[in-house]
Amino acid sequence: MPIAGGTDIMVRITGEIGEPPERMLDLAGLDDLRGFALDGRAILIGALTTYTEIRRSAMCREHLPALVEAAATIGAAQIQNRGTIGGNLANASAAGDTLPVLLATDAEILLGSARGERRVPVAEFFTGYRTTALAPDELILRIRVPLSAGREVRFRKVGTRRAQAISKVVLSLAWREHGRTAGWSDVRVALGSVAATPIRAMATEAALEGRHPIPEAADLAAETLAAEIEPIDDVRSTADYRRTVAARVLHRLIREAGGW
Ligand SMILES: Cc1cc2nc3c(=O)[nH]c(=O)nc-3n(C[C@H](O)[C@H](O)[C@H](O)COP(=O)(O)OP(=O)(O)OC[C@H]3O[C@@H](n4cnc5c(N)ncnc54)[C@H](O)[C@@H]3O)c2cc1C
Repeated sequence: MPIAGGTDIMVRITGEIGEPPERMLDLAGLDDLRGFALDGRAILIGALTTYTEIRRSAMCREHLPALVEAAATIGAAQIQNRGTIGGNLANASAAGDTLPVLLATDAEILLGSARGERRVPVAEFFTGYRTTALAPDELILRIRVPLSAGREVRFRKVGTRRAQAISKVVLSLAWREHGRTAGWSDVRVALGSVAATPIRAMATEAALEGRHPIPEAADLAAETLAAEIEPIDDVRSTADYRRTVAARVLHRLIREAGGW
C-alpha cells in the first residue's frame, strides 16, 4: 500500500479498525508529484502536495482560494504539515474536506501506472462507500482543476469546533457570472458528510441555474437541497441536523453572493 503523509494509514496501524497494511511503499521521494503548475487553462496540483503547501501557495491563493480555505480547516498544524491532497482523494472518506471543492470545480484526477496514464473526472472517481476508480497498481499523480473565466467558488465546513473536527457537513458552491443582467451559469453544489460518498446535488444546481442570487432563489435552492440529500444519523451528527444545516449554509452563501 502506498503511503504519503500517513495521517490516514497510521490510524489503522494498530489493527483496531480493520486489517493494517501488510507492506507499505513510501511515496515521499517522488518530488515530481509535489507542488503546483499552471498550464494556461488549469492549475495542476501534485498528489503529494500537503495542506500547508496549499495554504502557502501564492498560485493557489490567487486561482483557487476555496481550496486554501478547505486546507486551513483540516485537522491542525501537524496534520496539515503531513496530510496530502492525494491521500484525501484515495482515502475517499465522505467527510474529506477538499473533495467538495474538487467536485464543484470539475477537477480531474490524473492516474498513472506501468500501463500508462489516464484522467478521471472527480465526479466519477468515488464509486461507493470508501471505494474509488483507482486500480490496485495505480497512483494518483496530480489533480487538474480547470480555471474558468468568471467562476466563483465558495467553501464552508461545519464541525464541532474549529480544529481537529471531522465535518458534520461540508459544502462547496461554484457558479459563473456574466455581468449584472445575466443569471448564474455552470452552478455546482457539492457536499460531504451527507451521503456514502462526496456528492453533487444536481437538482439544487438546476434550481439555481440561470438565476440571480436573490432571496427567492436562495429559498428555493435551500428547500430543494433539503429534499434532495439523504444524510444519516451517526456518531458525529443526526440526519435532521445535517439536512437543516446544509440548507442553511447554502442559503447563507447565496445571500453573501447577493450582498443582501
Ligand atoms: C487527527 C486527524 C485529523 C484529521 N482531520 C481531517 C480533517 O479535518 N479533514 C479531512 O478531510 N481529513 C482529516 N484527516 C484525514 C487525513 O489527514 C486526510 O485524509 C489526508 O489528506 C490523508 O493524506 P495522507 O497523505 O496522510 O494519506 P496516507 O495516510 O498516506 O494515505 C491514505 C490512503 O491514500 C492512499 N494514497 C495516498 N497517496 C496516494 C497516491 N498518490 N496515489 C494512490 N494512493 C494514495 C494510501 O495508500 C492510503 O490508502 C485527519 C486525520 C487525523 C489523524
